[in-house]
Amino acid sequence: MPTAARAAVFRQPGAPPVIEPVVLDDPRADELVVRLVGVGVCHTDMVLRDGHLPLPFPVVLGHEGSGVVEQVGAGVIGLAPGDHVVLSFDSCGHCPSCDDHAPAYCHDWFAYNFGGGRSDGTTALAAPDGTAIHSHVFGQSSFATHAVVHARNAVKVDADLPLDLLGPLGCGIQTGAGAVLNELRPRAGASIAVIGTGAVGLSAIMACGIAGAGVVAAVDINPARVALAQELGATHGFDARAASLADHARAAGLPQGFDCVIDTTGRPDVVNAAMAALAPRGQMALVGAYGPGDIAADATFLMSGGRVIRGVVEGGADPQVFIPELLAHYRAGRFPFDKLVRFFAFDEIAEAIAQGEAGHVVKPVLRIA
Ligand SMILES: [Zn+2]
Ligand SMILES: [Zn+2]
Repeated sequence: MPTAARAAVFRQPGAPPVIEPVVLDDPRADELVVRLVGVGVCHTDMVLRDGHLPLPFPVVLGHEGSGVVEQVGAGVIGLAPGDHVVLSFDSCGHCPSCDDHAPAYCHDWFAYNFGGGRSDGTTALAAPDGTAIHSHVFGQSSFATHAVVHARNAVKVDADLPLDLLGPLGCGIQTGAGAVLNELRPRAGASIAVIGTGAVGLSAIMACGIAGAGVVAAVDINPARVALAQELGATHGFDARAASLADHARAAGLPQGFDCVIDTTGRPDVVNAAMAALAPRGQMALVGAYGPGDIAADATFLMSGGRVIRGVVEGGADPQVFIPELLAHYRAGRFPFDKLVRFFAFDEIAEAIAQGEAGHVVKPVLRIA
């Protein structure tokens, strides 16, 4: 039986969403129907809304969902109706990266996450008159009461956790935390600068505490965010407009620069300016949504110090492993990501997006009633 649902449909690039009745397909053998409880609003939703990636419209966005499994496809193992799940990005499951537990670098990542449907070109959503609506964004399209998702990108979580809070673990929060814990893997005492203190940057800063970092510098132009970063464990707060990152490093007693720099801004000009603040053997992680522009590195500067600049997708996470790990840190009080969240009703989606874009709320989460 197809499922009747409501979803926030984005009809054309740049236009605000409208909550409309939709009809969901039955789940295929490797799919689930999930009743959503919460869904985070991520910057990437805005990049998609504005048509900066070749995603087809009309489409249902939303890619930080949490909810309860309602139906399982015939081939699904390990999940059952009633299970609580966090939805994350999708991946093929059979390429060299997926085989190596690195699904964030799936060789078919764009098709699985930004294709606007299943890999065979079908979509799981339609308007009541039968007109197709694109689905499966990040394998979920979760700005909706229900979603058809791949079992592969649903992570089962303990039923005693606050399910409405957990969706952002599937994208923004694992992106920041994973950049530190999965990719940079700093030694205890290492010095780390995090540029940009949105949900991704603040998650990275909390993860620096878990990793036992020494100097943790939060860099932004928004003083309120820098103050929040210091509450969450940053040892230094820097105004990005007041001085270069290399000058800030010197002021923090690091004349050689930082061991690690994490750019969350997605701005090539910021990356280029920050490079001079990399200590010998320093690593810079690029985790933002980058617009056009080139990274320009001085070859001798990179080579002579053994410096590394690396791209990082979704914190390099295997969500099936990393989301339970983050939840263990949350339970132990080491990862209070709930401090980033403000809840909105599903009907307030436009307001939630506006508050997030204006920087008034770090991580808006829609409660789906
Ligand atoms: Zn793959
Ligand atoms: Zn995201």
